[in-house]
Amino acid sequence: MKLAYQQAAAEDYEAINQKLEKKDSLEVLKWAYQAYGDDIVYACSFGAEGMVLIDMIYKVKKEAAIVFLDTDFHFKETYELIDQVKQRYPSLRIELTKPGLTPAEQAEAHGSELWKVNPDLCCKIRKLIPLEQELNKYTAWMSGLRREQSSTRANTQFVNQDQRFQSIKICPLIHWTEEEIWMYINLHQLPYNSLHDRNYPSIGCEYCTKPVQKGEDPRSGRWANTNKTECGLHQQG
Ligand code: SF4
Repeated sequence: MKLAYQQAAAEDYEAINQKLEKKDSLEVLKWAYQAYGDDIVYACSFGAEGMVLIDMIYKVKKEAAIVFLDTDFHFKETYELIDQVKQRYPSLRIELTKPGLTPAEQAEAHGSELWKVNPDLCCKIRKLIPLEQELNKYTAWMSGLRREQSSTRANTQFVNQDQRFQSIKICPLIHWTEEEIWMYINLHQLPYNSLHDRNYPSIGCEYCTKPVQKGEDPRSGRWANTNKTECGLHQQG
């Protein structure tokens, strides 16, 4: 059964999720690509979960569409990893999508350090609007969210009605623990961002990501010293 955002009701999501309840991530992926074919895109941030999901996607759909929100502010290690992934999975259609404003244009319009004075606006310009434009091309999208990552992600289902982007959001990794992610990466010798070995468990833009000390919340290095915890891609409403 294929859901489309405009037609589906809450009961339809419930029914699909009940059907998928006992399935593993690979089976959820198979369902997703069977239902949506080329009409689904994986929005990948190239974190540890992304490496697992890309490896699994490649097993199911060799020419899958993957999009990376290239804010122009990522670490050089992230761009190096993307090159490695492209070499390892050559048939995947990996695209880097850019914001409407270059860093210089943004500085001219909003000041030179918008991420400090108004990170929500900066994320809106450099992530939310580009993702919205990208998702308009597809019926559904995929994310590597895991339930244990944060309280805001604890109720994520395999298949979610995404009100923010008026889309269907599929999250095949909801049940995975961080330990299982790393076991998979090591077992399959997958490439990963070398910053993970330097106390960066969650990696975003260079300006907004700090290393995290042992025992701290893995996401506490994102927008450290602010109330911001999410860039807005995974908020509902
Ligand atoms: S994470 Fe920081 S630098 Fe990146 S888009 Fe958001 S506010 Fe701007």
